[in-house]
Amino acid sequence: MTFIDLRSDTVTQPTDKMRQAIFNAEVGDDVYGDDATVNELEEYAAKLVGKEAAMFVPSGTFGNQVSIMTHCRRGDEVLLGENSHIMIHEVGAAAALSGVQLRTLHDNGGEFIISELISKLRGEDIHFPDTGLICMETAHSSGKVPSLLNMKAVYDIAKDHNVQVHLDGARLFNAAAYLDVDVKDITKYCDTVTFCLSKGLCAPIGSIVAGTRKFISAARKNRKRMGGGLRQAGFLAAPGLIALKEMREGLKEDHKNARLLGELLNEFPGVKVNLNDIQINMVFFDIKETDINIQDLVDFFYEKQVKINGDENGIMRFVTHHWVTEKDVYYVVETFKEALKALK
Ligand SMILES: *Cc1c(COP(=O)(O)O)cnc(C)c1O
Repeated sequence: MTFIDLRSDTVTQPTDKMRQAIFNAEVGDDVYGDDATVNELEEYAAKLVGKEAAMFVPSGTFGNQVSIMTHCRRGDEVLLGENSHIMIHEVGAAAALSGVQLRTLHDNGGEFIISELISKLRGEDIHFPDTGLICMETAHSSGKVPSLLNMKAVYDIAKDHNVQVHLDGARLFNAAAYLDVDVKDITKYCDTVTFCLSKGLCAPIGSIVAGTRKFISAARKNRKRMGGGLRQAGFLAAPGLIALKEMREGLKEDHKNARLLGELLNEFPGVKVNLNDIQINMVFFDIKETDINIQDLVDFFYEKQVKINGDENGIMRFVTHHWVTEKDVYYVVETFKEALKALK
């Protein structure tokens, strides 16, 4: 029996159509610019997000880091959310690879406080680093989607101060699905954007960085420096094209299943789901009041063919995706009910 895997949307396996496309992909040496499938993906991706050019990279982390490296000089300061992926989950790469200093802003659900942003932009002073970049994130790691109004306000301030804006859009298409807007209505508030093909869109590997032609050509050199110049990468680009062309629509289904899961879990005594925070495919909840040992819960679910992660600071997260059906949601809820009885 196969597992229901709620740990993340990064666990998504490629679809049969993707596997066929990988097998049949036309490939070449992409470092020479010879891979027709990569070229097609990059052109398609750039157009999709309304930027001049795009570049395929191995991961979302790589995309963010090559962007920081290309935007900034060593010693520059990068302003970003205190809970952002770049701050928390990229192993200190901005310091290690680009020699920049990170300075955090409050990021409630991914939204910045504009007065705080303004106060932290550096002016001219011989003691100060230069503000090299502002990074926003959507969808935010809290599962929430910052409003377009807030993103516009950040972008306008950045432009007033001549600072570039990078958007970590790992789940950009989830954000667009939630806001029910064209993705370009989001990416118009950034100069460069990274988004993942390998999360809810089911491609096995890869992310995209998009921006001006000039930026992308500088970023290509940094990608090579970072060891990300891939050869017959068309095998990865082929499922990426299917991800962008055919898998975006399905994200709405994932969001619907997450909401259903959240509403049903919230009915159990001692389980607290913040239903207002379910905007994309993530359900965050607190089970401290149930007094259940988290590792016991993880083990119980595993026995029942469901993979879940343990808590982070007392908060659990279940993630829905292409391979989690509505029927699976009901199975998970039933299993949760059994666990509450068995582990009391
Ligand atoms: C997943 C994720 C990334 C990085 O993706 P990897 O491909 O795992 O390196 C970056 N930012 C956010 C917000 C993410 O959720």
